[in-house]
Parts: sequence; C-alpha cells; structure tokens
Amino acid sequence: MHDIVIVGGGLVGSSLAIALDGCGFRVALVEAALPKVSEQPSYDERNLALARASINALTALGVWAHTKGQAAPIERIHISRRGEFGAVNLVADELGLPAFGAVLPARELGNALLHRLDACQSLERIAPAQLTAIESTADTIELSVREGERERRLSTRLLVGADGTGSFVRGHFGIGVQRTDYVQSAFVTTLTTEKPLDGRAFERFTDSGPVAMLPCGRHQAGLVLTVPTEDSDRVAALDDTAFIALVHERFGYRLGRLSRPGKRKPYPLARVLADRLTAERMVLVGNAAQTVHPLGAQGFNLGLRDALSLSELLIAARQENSDPGNADLLQRYVERRTPDREATTSFSDDLVRLMGNKSAPLRVLRSLGFVALERLTPLKRRVALRGMGFRGDVSQRALSR
Ligand SMILES: Cc1cc2nc3c(=O)[nH]c(=O)nc-3n(C[C@H](O)[C@H](O)[C@H](O)COP(=O)(O)OP(=O)(O)OC[C@H]3O[C@@H](n4cnc5c(N)ncnc54)[C@H](O)[C@@H]3O)c2cc1C
Repeated sequence: MHDIVIVGGGLVGSSLAIALDGCGFRVALVEAALPKVSEQPSYDERNLALARASINALTALGVWAHTKGQAAPIERIHISRRGEFGAVNLVADELGLPAFGAVLPARELGNALLHRLDACQSLERIAPAQLTAIESTADTIELSVREGERERRLSTRLLVGADGTGSFVRGHFGIGVQRTDYVQSAFVTTLTTEKPLDGRAFERFTDSGPVAMLPCGRHQAGLVLTVPTEDSDRVAALDDTAFIALVHERFGYRLGRLSRPGKRKPYPLARVLADRLTAERMVLVGNAAQTVHPLGAQGFNLGLRDALSLSELLIAARQENSDPGNADLLQRYVERRTPDREATTSFSDDLVRLMGNKSAPLRVLRSLGFVALERLTPLKRRVALRGMGFRGDVSQRALSR
C-alpha cells in the first residue's frame, strides 16, 4: 500500500517526487517512458525560460547543482511589435535585480532531474510503466500499471495526476476541459547570432505570430517562432537558408546575421484548462491541470508552483499524522493554487490575444502601453517580479536561495 502515487515523471511529476523524498510517506513515481533523457517526450530541445522563483526552488531541491552551470541568465528583456512604435526594455540591474531568470534546454533540466531522482532515498520509481486503469474504493485508489508484459496492481491513499496535457487520470475522473486552439504552431530551435546576446531576451510580436529569442550562450539563441498552423507543413519543409530568411523577415537584424539553425519541429499550440483540480483522493498538477501558450514562458514555472504547494501541504499532513488523501487537504490545495492559476493562465492567453490583434485602435493603445510601461519603473518592477514567479501564495522553497 502506498500513501502517494504520482503518475507522470515529466518535469513537474519528477520535481514533486523529489520534493516529497524523505517526508515519511510511502511515495511511488510511475512513468511510461524509460528514465533516459532521449526517451522522455518533454525532455527535448525546447529552451525553457525559468523564473527566478523556479531556480530558487530547484536549488533548494538539489536539482540545480546537476545543471552544471549550463543555464544562461536573462538580464534584459526587449518587447516590441513589428510595425508599431514603442518598445519595452526591462533591465534587471536597473530594477535592482541580479537577473530575471535563466534559460535552460528542457533536455538539460530533464537530465538534472534524473540525476537527482537517482539520489532519492525512499522514493519507489516504477518505469517504464503505463497506468492503464483506475478504480476507487472507500479508502483507497486501486491502479493497474503495465510494466512490459507484466500487469501490476498498486493501492494508494492519494493519486497525483502529473501525466501531461492529455491526462489519462483527468479523463478517468470525468473532469472536462476548456480547450482553446490557437491555430498556431511553435517551431523551436537554436541559432548562431552575429552579435552577442549578452543576456538579452527578445519577444517580438508580428501579425503572423510572435517570435522569441532567448539567450543560450554569447552567440547562441534559442528561437521560438510561431506560425499559423496552416503554414506549419510549409515551414517544416524549408531548408536552412529559407528558414533563416523567414526568421529575419519576422525578427529583423537586431542580432546581426543569423546562421546554423539546429533541428526544428513544430508544436501545435492550445490552451487546455481542467474544469476541476481534484476529485476524491486525486489531485492534478502541471500540464494535466493546465496547459498554456508557451509565449509567456509560464507552463513549467506554474506547474512547479503546483508541485511546491502540494508538497508543503503533504509534508505538513505527515507531521500531523493525517491522511494524505483527505478532503480538507485537497480543498486547501485548490484554495492555494486558484489565484495564481487563474492569473497566470489568463495572463498567457491575454498576451496572445492582445498582441495578435490587428485592429487599428488596439495598435495605438498597445504602442502607448509600451511607452507608458517603458517610463514607469515601479510598474516595470511589479511586472518583472510577477514574471519571475513571485505571485500568489509563494512557497518557502521558491523564496530560499
Ligand atoms: C515549445 C514549448 C516551449 C515552452 N517553453 C517554456 C518556458 O520557456 N518556460 C516554461 O515554464 N514552460 C515552457 N513550456 C511548457 C513546459 O514544457 C510544460 O509546462 C512542462 O513540460 C509540463 O510538464 P508536466 O510534467 O506537467 O507534463 P509533461 O512534461 O507532459 O509530462 C507528462 C509525463 O507523464 C507521462 N505519462 C503520460 N501518461 C502516462 C500514463 N498513463 N502512465 C504513466 N506515465 C504517463 C509522460 O510519459 C510524460 O513523461 C514550453 C512548452 C513548449 C511546447
């Protein structure tokens, strides 16, 4: 009998398992893929912009040490829209901050998480193993897990659904979703730049979708190029020269000539919000609870905050000798996560809609908004701190350095 079974060992489920290690509850982590960076679907080439609060938490969890200094700090953020006046320059130093966060490829974060998982003392890791069936009894949840040819039964007092956007757990509990298809796909790759990035990140909005350029090294940029889905096959088929020409057309020459694009693949973009976060003895975290547009770079940052809040509640429950699946605890989780979840998911969505809208009055308002924000240091600082993940009920691990 387990106290807690986490299904899904992606970025969020693994972080939660690490946060719970040694807490005294019997915890298992069930993951469908082999525990190798090359096998796990989300441990790929996407460059993750990690908020300061996330880096603090990953440091406190002993994960950051395994990234071996590969993260590149974000010291300045430049936001603009093609064809409109005004731009916002957020400079960490001017706002009294060391950096806004850092960029790390998901593959490297995945690698660090796997190393840290290897060092867990009491966690049971069940992988590769796919959850195939769920049954609720009065006091437990019974799970069927397929491990190769073998069918294994697990019994738990709390089930955590960390199984991503298409969550099997969420579906089993009949929890519906609100789905918004952005009819856009994001191409993610790295590029070499002629001019140095020097810690600068760029967010540029155009009529055909946003382009982000993240600092990955002095002359290495992580590109996120969004295109309408109807163009996705055409863009995927472009050779390197034509692809670079498209990036220049959308982004311009701020970083001089761009070259040597890496492998690229499109991600179809949709917002998927679960109607509820809990059911009896079950709780959702990460993308299973909410999947957002990558434009605001919020998905993992938000999912990590889910994991941190849940782990704090569970550690306290263990100290009080109480049941990890009790309804009060789940209700407190919902109360604690709702304000951050609502603010962050609507921030990402509003950004996509506001910046994507082509109407003339909005263009003027947008430009004026840029000019105003550019001039107001206290407002800039507030925007920056929220973007750094210090929002809602901030977990202790996110505050520690
Ligand atoms: C292009 C792109 C760029 C992004 N950039 C950023 C960024 O800059 N900053 C940021 O914070 N976020 C970013 N994100 C979002 C971030 O990648 C996700 O929010 C994060 O990966 C979600 O993690 P997760 O663990 O919840 O889900 P996932 O990573 O999807 O993991 C789910 C896991 O569950 C496993 N699983 C599924 N079903 C089962 C089952 N039945 N049994 C067992 N295991 C199962 C899967 O194998 C998988 O390993 C970006 C996303 C994209 C697509």
